Amino acid sequence: MRQSEPALPLDASRRAFLRSASLAATASMFSGGHITLAGPHPAANTASPVEPALDAKRMRELAAWTGLTMQTPNPVPYGAEVFHSKTGERLMRATNAVRKENDPSAHGEVHAIRLACSKLGSYSLSGYTLYTTCEPCPMCMACALWAGLDRVVYGATLAASARFGHQIMISAAEVVKRSDISCVVDGPVERDFCLTLFTNPNMQKAFKKWNSPKH
Ligand SMILES: [Zn+2]
Repeated sequence: MRQSEPALPLDASRRAFLRSASLAATASMFSGGHITLAGPHPAANTASPVEPALDAKRMRELAAWTGLTMQTPNPVPYGAEVFHSKTGERLMRATNAVRKENDPSAHGEVHAIRLACSKLGSYSLSGYTLYTTCEPCPMCMACALWAGLDRVVYGATLAASARFGHQIMISAAEVVKRSDISCVVDGPVERDFCLTLFTNPNMQKAFKKWNSPKH
């Protein structure tokens, strides 16, 4: 919960959200747990117009940078980067550091968000956009929402990444839909390029280790 948000009383929009969330949960029980998205979520804040060529350029550069880990003892296919939505200034980029830091929550996105917030001296990344080489898992997407990011742009899909290791199959868009916080989610962008991180021979060796019972 954000510090600035009063716990009570509930305002009208929050009541409406809780009602719709309750209805969605009820509906999901009758449809095999599958919920169809009603439509795109408009961002309430001031994100710049989407520029597909710029998204593609940033994603390729992020994937190339993330690929540098392939020659290290801890190769990872997950990298994330935070840009100012309007000025395009890069604030922070980071890779998954779960093994490096023995921190199961240090996914690329959470890692980048933590470092970005620390750099700003703020818990809020409102006004910023996050790029990530893979669609955020529910933990990372929830963190992106709590951080107030304007927009999240991803490369490989959650479904594609699940072919290589464990995954929690709740889409980033679904996490947004179940919240009352606005965030635009765009992707996949440069999916095939990002997937080369997963199929890299050094990454494949690492995945075998990750997926073995003793690692
Ligand atoms: Zn994650």
